[in-house]
Amino acid sequence: MKLILIGMPGAGKSTQGNLLSKKLGIPYLSTGHIFRDLAKEHTKLGRQIKIIMNTGLLVSDARTLNIVEEYLSRPEYDKGYILDGFPRTVNQAKEFKNGIDKVIYLNVTDKEILWRLAYRDDQGREDDTLLAIRKRIEVFHKFTKPVLDYYKHKGKLLEVNGEQKIEDIYKEILKRLNVPKHAK
Ligand code: AMP
Repeated sequence: MKLILIGMPGAGKSTQGNLLSKKLGIPYLSTGHIFRDLAKEHTKLGRQIKIIMNTGLLVSDARTLNIVEEYLSRPEYDKGYILDGFPRTVNQAKEFKNGIDKVIYLNVTDKEILWRLAYRDDQGREDDTLLAIRKRIEVFHKFTKPVLDYYKHKGKLLEVNGEQKIEDIYKEILKRLNVPKHAK
């Protein structure tokens, strides 16, 4: 199964992504994690990505597509995957050639996101400053919301209320993907 998780920063994508990955036996891949690793490198690319991330902006579509397609060409992704954080723009969605079965949108209000991220400082993410958080929310509305319409028209969008308990969100996703409760 090839799945995409979409939601604002702090919507619970990595939590659900990891749960689903275990249940379905397919790998979880987060572009945010990839870029955070690249940003640690003392290279020109690393420095550029670090600045982009810490300002809450998006890495270019071309660079993002290259990196994602390079990862997905590895044998461990042959049977399927759960992508978190990609695609973030309609252009990325259109250019992505690997195929997708369903897109899960974890819907959470801006207000709730601000609360959650303001208290996420235990993970020490450099892009969890108030200014960057606001920018990331703005970027989500401007560039990523249209991706939801794109997949809706293709009949692939599953919208889930992301303000429920973690366990209830997980159960709802499995139900809507028609995964039997006792599967694997
Ligand atoms: P995330 O952990 O998904 O919130 O991603 C952290 C940051 O990585 C984002 O704010 C962007 O700067 C960058 N990023 C992650 N995924 C993408 C993507 N698909 N396209 C462009 N930039 C991305």
